[in-house]
Amino acid sequence: MLDCPDGCSLAVTVKRGKAVVIDGAHTNPVTNGFICAKVRKFDQRVYGPDRLLYPAIRKGRKGEGAFTRASWDDALGLIVERMQAAKATAGGESVLPFSYGGSNGLLTQDNLDAQLWRRFGASRLARAVCAAPTGAANMSLYGKMPSVTYQDYPEARLIVLWGVNPSASGIHLVPYVREAQKRGAALVVIDPRTTPLARSADIHLAVRPGTDVAVALAIHRHLFVTGRADEAFLAAHTEGADRLRERAEPWTLARAAEVAGVDAGALERVAELYASRSPALVRCGWGLERNRNGGNAAMAVLALPAVGGKFGVRGGGYSMSNSASWNIAKSWIGTPEPDTRLVNMNQLGRALTEYDDPPVRVLFVYNCNPAATVPDQQRVLRGLEREDLFTVVFEQVMTDTALYADVVLPATTFLEGYDLAKAYGPIALELARPVIDVVGEARSNADVFGELCARLGLLEDGEPSGELDLMVHVLEQLPGRIGSDLGSGHQAKPPFGLTPVQFLDVFPNTPNRKVRLFSESLDASAPMGLYRFQPDPATREFPLALISPASEHTISSTLGELPRTDARLLMHPGDALARGLADGDLVRVFNGLGEVHCPLNVSGSMRPGVVSLPKGLWRRSTRNNTTGTALVPDTLTDIGDGACFNDARVQVASLATA
Ligand code: SF4
Repeated sequence: MLDCPDGCSLAVTVKRGKAVVIDGAHTNPVTNGFICAKVRKFDQRVYGPDRLLYPAIRKGRKGEGAFTRASWDDALGLIVERMQAAKATAGGESVLPFSYGGSNGLLTQDNLDAQLWRRFGASRLARAVCAAPTGAANMSLYGKMPSVTYQDYPEARLIVLWGVNPSASGIHLVPYVREAQKRGAALVVIDPRTTPLARSADIHLAVRPGTDVAVALAIHRHLFVTGRADEAFLAAHTEGADRLRERAEPWTLARAAEVAGVDAGALERVAELYASRSPALVRCGWGLERNRNGGNAAMAVLALPAVGGKFGVRGGGYSMSNSASWNIAKSWIGTPEPDTRLVNMNQLGRALTEYDDPPVRVLFVYNCNPAATVPDQQRVLRGLEREDLFTVVFEQVMTDTALYADVVLPATTFLEGYDLAKAYGPIALELARPVIDVVGEARSNADVFGELCARLGLLEDGEPSGELDLMVHVLEQLPGRIGSDLGSGHQAKPPFGLTPVQFLDVFPNTPNRKVRLFSESLDASAPMGLYRFQPDPATREFPLALISPASEHTISSTLGELPRTDARLLMHPGDALARGLADGDLVRVFNGLGEVHCPLNVSGSMRPGVVSLPKGLWRRSTRNNTTGTALVPDTLTDIGDGACFNDARVQVASLATA
């Protein structure tokens, strides 16, 4: 499984310890027997030529990928030696652990790894490459209240898919949206691209990237000025509505439409549909957060059901990450977070090349591939090339980052070990068991971090140090009956069930159980305040907005190693014509940070002024070994300190001309 909202249950056919077919199971009703094409090909990762089979130590230049096989004992011994030396000379903060979700399991992330880094006193990592602005908004407004699950979409009479393309990044939602449409629901899609669902939508607003906050505030204003804001709900269940109303006031439909580059009449029809239909459901995606206004966009979008009075009915409200629904406190980490330096993962390049108090001496990468995925790729690579940096990469395959490692450690995949897998679209938690033989000498995260804790003298008597005892330990600490149900093979459910209705079954987890529509602290910390808009960073030199959405091949960089045709830049026909470019031309996409060389795909699915490269590319996916992240600034979002992938502004020219 990948970092994906759907959380499928899988049926794997195994012959002589090897996976031969990977398909969907029916255990999780939302999976309904089918899975995406990505994971059906997962065996190509497990047994492919890039798979890491044993620990290895670098023998060539950084980035060359030349390694000598080593034993686990030697590799772990070297890592411990280098970590201790860094701590002795520059302090624990000179060690930077760098990770993201991997396959999002409870055993593979924030577990013995967190225990190790906390006890060692390493720098802390702000894991903000994705979902930080939407998460911060959801937390501020609702304390991450559980949200509408896939199964309830058919109850809605209006669905607004905002900054999300389930056809690529959550395919199990699509049949539920289609079913709602069959039953008469109107569908609105807000996305710069004409996604598959946008083609069948009643209204598609192809907004300019970064302008979602203006559009959402205009809908708020429309609700207030036409008397369709639910004043009774606002009085009883919210605080701060007046401040939101005041901030929405400048955003007439006409002004927002102009800023967003959409038809004012179409925007008015969206606002009217939202005002008049119930149950009305807004699916807030992650596409709208990846820009300078991302946190405010998420705030304004998620606040809509409170102002419109859309809660309290099945199929009404909002849909966002349900990862917090299980109320899991991760009590098993066992050590409080120290007050050590916090490094934002979106600024890894800066941390590796500029930080000197202390400098990063040891970088330990796992569950992610920053050389391909974090902003300002050229600076990240310059940092990884530092000869005085000791880099460990603990991975399943030889990633772009692993090529720069001093030590690579082979990791098991989800087919080879235990885990507790949590969906964050539907509400589902499942115990995943190993179904195939471990490939090569791969080891689980729990086994490796447990052993590192032991070797560094950071393990206390009786504490779990390996995968199986860790799983038992975690099951025992899950709230309520969840652990015992999972352990005995039953489906786990939170107390409110698997399909809660917002404001009937679940309420905001804020101190007074009210929706906090205005947060003074966010207002003070956001660069221009709460519910404010920062203008487009485009220049005459670099006028095109580059976005990098998930594709049918990759929703993260996992599986980006599989062979496929060159990545292509999507561009609107008008923009291509203006540059004398034709479909299939080799182009350079460039700005002051870097450039990407790839073929052009002229496509009416793009709005004018916006170009697109797929998310999750590896360096081998393009002609000049760079990915879209080479063009992305390492600036941070207004709220949540997230990545501004969609603030890349670029120019495109023919490579032949260049
Ligand atoms: S990536 Fe998503 S859709 Fe594909 S199998 Fe995993 S959970 Fe299911």
